[in-house]
Amino acid sequence: MAQHAVITKPRAAAEGADLSQATTQELYKELLARYGEDPDRDGLLRTPERMEKAMQFLTKGYAMNATQILRGALFDVAYDEMVIVKDVEFFSMCEHHLLPFFGKVHVAYIPNGKVIGLSKIPRLVDVFARRLQVQERLTRQIADAIEDAIQPQGVGVVMEAQHLCMMMRGVEKQHSATVTSAMLGVFRSEQQSRSEFLSLVRQRSSI
Ligand code: ZN
Repeated sequence: MAQHAVITKPRAAAEGADLSQATTQELYKELLARYGEDPDRDGLLRTPERMEKAMQFLTKGYAMNATQILRGALFDVAYDEMVIVKDVEFFSMCEHHLLPFFGKVHVAYIPNGKVIGLSKIPRLVDVFARRLQVQERLTRQIADAIEDAIQPQGVGVVMEAQHLCMMMRGVEKQHSATVTSAMLGVFRSEQQSRSEFLSLVRQRSSI
């Protein structure tokens, strides 16, 4: 046991180094060693570099701004029926385990004079999905961003996701899906709008 403790002792700490001075790749290399790997073996030589790039990509939402993305994609229209964008794929990382959760998000709103260019909805989802998240907050942030952008009569977001932290470890519920929703405006106050949205979500691609 004592020997094990010596092996896993933080290298940086052992050398009295300041971790804040270590590069991200050095930190990943250290992690690989602590997991019991030899970070110098061939297959792992460039892994810290790849991990850094992958994590930069998966967290790039922090540097993205919903308002900026929607700028130039808001249009005035006299349309007040429900706009629904279904089955937008997303991938995010759970903030509790840094493991992916992913699935589909369905977005609906009833305009109040303005609509959002449809191609912007998936980009808007990415702004918040490419951060460390919990599914409930991610769902709510998408709804809030749409509300802020166009002040619609109502907005609804339903998200169905599978969490690798549940599937790969612990309970291993491999087929369970977590469903969250955020309902604002008429989607919250009027049963009819909410039901219409939910029944459209439930219909599997009819076209
Ligand atoms: Zn998790």
